Amino acid sequence: MLSAHSCPVGRLGAKDTGGMSVYVLELARELGKQGHLVDIYTRVHDPQDKLIYELGTNARLIHLKAGEDGEINKLDVYPHLPEFVCQLEDFRKRNQLQYDLIYSHYWLSARAGESLQSRWNVPHMIMFHTLGAIKNTLGVGEPEPELRIDTEREVSNNCHRIIAATEKEKEAVIRHYGASPETISVIPCGVNMELFRPIEKKEARRRLGLGNNGKNVLFVGRIEPLKGIDKLLRAMTYLEDGRNTALWIIGGDEQSRHELERLQGLTQELRIQDSVSFLGLIKQPELPLYYSAADVCVVSSYYESFGLVALESLACGTPVVTTRVGDMENIICQGKTGYVLDDNAPGGLAEKIGILLSGSRNGIGSVNLIRESVAGFSWTSIAEKIAEECRTAVVEYSAGNASLSASRSSNSLPIP
Ligand code: UDP
Repeated sequence: MLSAHSCPVGRLGAKDTGGMSVYVLELARELGKQGHLVDIYTRVHDPQDKLIYELGTNARLIHLKAGEDGEINKLDVYPHLPEFVCQLEDFRKRNQLQYDLIYSHYWLSARAGESLQSRWNVPHMIMFHTLGAIKNTLGVGEPEPELRIDTEREVSNNCHRIIAATEKEKEAVIRHYGASPETISVIPCGVNMELFRPIEKKEARRRLGLGNNGKNVLFVGRIEPLKGIDKLLRAMTYLEDGRNTALWIIGGDEQSRHELERLQGLTQELRIQDSVSFLGLIKQPELPLYYSAADVCVVSSYYESFGLVALESLACGTPVVTTRVGDMENIICQGKTGYVLDDNAPGGLAEKIGILLSGSRNGIGSVNLIRESVAGFSWTSIAEKIAEECRTAVVEYSAGNASLSASRSSNSLPIP
């Protein structure tokens, strides 16, 4: 697996480290448990990074030098991809490794994967995680560069398989990039059901140093305009019992400072600064406490490629209010485990949050029912589906039936 720009063991909730890192790490571990040998390659993100980390049975993470060590803007990774590919080849040869398939994550790694596949003569599978063309259509936040759009278009047409997390993503890859439908399979993301478990609400609140009175609304994620956190802040002003309701915002690091300051400014403008807490990055093992202590988790995004946070909240038994993004329509049972709204208009968000904060909860199921509703998203079952895809790709490739036009794209990386 290639995850050049984002480290699978990086700080989750930081500017460029989120759902994709969770996906790569959890999938590698689960595939490893199922008996497949998985190496993940990423850049050195921290000068202290060891070359090799054992992630579990049969799964390793390998750090390669590409550009200066340390965090760099993800777009700045692009010019260093040839170095990344060379380092990878060098490591592979020194260690006499041979791979059966490359699974690249995000357009940057897809570009690197393309170069490697033509050298190794193995199938190349891609997951984009987010699509530049969709982000640009929405017009929220920084526009995505042409380089990304062109690369996504080219690799979509040159790779052997594309894994889309949702039907919507599949349609978008076809519509925006002209990818051939038969090369795309829809396989959702998963959730670690062992880690994300309900903790009794009173106990969770006690462990967080909270009393039993008062209500809590939770946001978890990277801090960026696409997450629509400003809409959630505005929604808080519509709540009837706003004074007794606290909003916790989890996520964001020093690289998200600009957006955090904007949001903090908005809380003052709205006069809700006393009820909103920006808690910064919280490590995943601590998150079940927050999900369990909260009355509702809100996903106010304009765009999500999937929506792991919603799955995690439900696995902890806490209902979700979300916009119709990612796979939310499949993740959430409308009115039973949460609400899926057409958009993030503050009035609509507030209405549904208000129902979940009220004692009656209007037909929303018990903690156990909410948790059970997402049991089908365990990583074990997702990894089995991915392994099946890999097997098919390898068989088709070696039979010469791969639905790839063998031509390499004009922008393929130069490898010395
Ligand atoms: N996350 C975390 N700590 C934080 C913020 C986020 O561990 O402080 C994790 C969260 O548990 C989830 C991921 O980051 O697994 C975010 O994934 P999601 O798909 O919701 O958003 P994306 O990063 O893809 O935009």
